[in-house]
Amino acid sequence: MTLTTVWAKLWFVPCFFMMLLCRPSQSLAQTYLLRPDRIFDGETTHEGWVVRVKGDKIEAVGSANSVAADGAEVVDLKGQTLVPGLIEGHSHLLLHPYNETPWDDQVLKEARSLRVARATVHAEKTLLAGFTTVRDLGTEGADYDDVGLKQAINQGIIPGPRMIVVTRALIATGSYGPKGFSTDIDVPQGAEEADGHDALIQAVRRQIGKGADAIKIYADYRWGLMAEARPTYTVDEIKLIVEVAKSSGRGVVAHASTAEGMRRAIVGGCETVEHGDAGTPEIFALMKQHGTALCPTLAAGDAVSQYRGWKKGQEPEPDRIKQKRVTFKQALDAGVTICAGGDVGVFSHGDNARELVMMVDYGMKPLDVLRSATSVNADVFHLANRGRLKAGLLADLVAVEGDPTKTIADLHRVKTVMKGGIFYKR
Ligand SMILES: [Zn+2]
Repeated sequence: MTLTTVWAKLWFVPCFFMMLLCRPSQSLAQTYLLRPDRIFDGETTHEGWVVRVKGDKIEAVGSANSVAADGAEVVDLKGQTLVPGLIEGHSHLLLHPYNETPWDDQVLKEARSLRVARATVHAEKTLLAGFTTVRDLGTEGADYDDVGLKQAINQGIIPGPRMIVVTRALIATGSYGPKGFSTDIDVPQGAEEADGHDALIQAVRRQIGKGADAIKIYADYRWGLMAEARPTYTVDEIKLIVEVAKSSGRGVVAHASTAEGMRRAIVGGCETVEHGDAGTPEIFALMKQHGTALCPTLAAGDAVSQYRGWKKGQEPEPDRIKQKRVTFKQALDAGVTICAGGDVGVFSHGDNARELVMMVDYGMKPLDVLRSATSVNADVFHLANRGRLKAGLLADLVAVEGDPTKTIADLHRVKTVMKGGIFYKR
């Protein structure tokens, strides 16, 4: 044996171990057999079923005796329910709770570097809370920073959920905020102002070019004579935005809380209406007819009311909350598709399940809420590769203590989080 061959052999040993150490676990195509008490597959529950994961995909789902365990690491999840990775329908990873810092100050006084640094922490908290996907509905003054955040997560630089981003969002000139400043200065806004034919076409295409997965518009905002919410864009403007976005295969989501703002968003072709606080039975019937989904954001209104001084549990519910209960019930009665999205960022990231608990409190069955947060959100957001436990879909899985199909608050008891076949919490 020459000295060179000996050297070559010795050299190989540390290299081999280094390769083992440095290799990301997903490239090993690790196989797991997850054995919980029951699964919720995105639509219904099955006692005693198991899920087999290979690499980043679900390989098989079924009763324990129908799914082979060979070659798989068995993960026992005793006393737990396995559900598809939850999908947050309305987040703002670049915002933090308004009782910490008012929205105006976040937009005007916080450097984008600070906001992004904070957002990386929000992303991790979201993932560890079992939300493996978020539809992030606007950077609120942080330009296109959601695009970089999404890239950092996708490249494995930071842990976080899969993101659908809308970048800056679109507002009618003069309608949004921060407002109330001297007319002599131009105050940076929380979204991009664009109106009329050419400017709207350009703004939609620019946001798409920069990485928007969907377009968000504010169909109404608090710019009425008495600072009340009033419609912003005309129906023609909304139709134009939808037409331009649709050419690229993207949907449009509308913030709307007034009946008229909602009506314009619905007939204009938006896919989801966010908030919908002042909807009416007629408006909800129109939503049902057009197939427009409602993302009710119950937790945001609940949080804001408390920030304004309401002592929940000790004082009667404010009118705003009472009205929200009524209109949410009207939407359910009309058979409107209900997304699950809390407007998290207004309240703490990682507390996303607060919305789902409130949906039950406001009249939905736990099973329907779980459907909203998984298969329904996936369908409405065009995410055919997730939202269900089914062979071939992404291995985004969450195990919680107890049975959230009966007690929705069990979603706060997350024990295991897997995204793309990798454990982030175990
Ligand atoms: Zn929002």
